[in-house]
Amino acid sequence: MGFLLSSKDYAEYIKLAAAKIHENGEYVTALDAATGDGDHWTNINMGFEKLVEAIPELETMSLYEEFKKIGIIMMSVIGGSSGVLYGSAYMGAAKVLKDKENIENQDMCNVLEAMLNSIMTRGNAKPGYKTMLDCLYPAVECYKDSIAKGLSERETVSLVKKAANDGAQSTADMEAVRGRACYQANKGKGNLDPGAITMAYQLEVLMDYIAAKL
Ligand code: ADP
Ligand code: MG
Repeated sequence: MGFLLSSKDYAEYIKLAAAKIHENGEYVTALDAATGDGDHWTNINMGFEKLVEAIPELETMSLYEEFKKIGIIMMSVIGGSSGVLYGSAYMGAAKVLKDKENIENQDMCNVLEAMLNSIMTRGNAKPGYKTMLDCLYPAVECYKDSIAKGLSERETVSLVKKAANDGAQSTADMEAVRGRACYQANKGKGNLDPGAITMAYQLEVLMDYIAAKL
């Protein structure tokens, strides 16, 4: 049997992701201070704190309503570029979950792909621009590939987690085309993109959460 995530499960994941983001405050702030304006962690952490406060409501909703609500909270509380992008990501993912009671393996892949496409459209960006997409894109490619190859769900989530982390690390060598790092003389080369790192935290926690359900 494969995994099935309910809206209550997804709310439980949100709590774990919030904790992961919370405990990496100094590190992420230092990354954004190097290439941006230093607010990325404060913004995203505030968004996740609000999401945690909303858990009693989120866990009683349908997945569709839950994802829309998460998008609204992220858009309004995180602010900045990442708030808008995460808001769009969750709105786009909600559409994939219309009428679904649970998220199974293929749905999870579809959710992440919808997030990727929404972020690319909203931010007018592509992989290679030194953004959160450089974490999410390889993770989605890996997910699709693993399903196509018929890999087990355990193998799949482990590979997706690795692809997300490797993708985030690959931003160190990139020159920024989007985000504040592109205003720097060296385009942020040599520094990791903070948004790619916080995206990797979320995907890592999600994949670990799924693995624990298998
Ligand atoms: P701001 O740049 O407005 O201060 P944040 O600090 O919250 O916003 O977020 C910065 C992160 O947002 C970057 O590290 C990058 O990953 C991501 N980002 C910025 N612009 C884009 C874009 N156009 N497409 C995708 N991601 C982006
Ligand atoms: Mg910033």
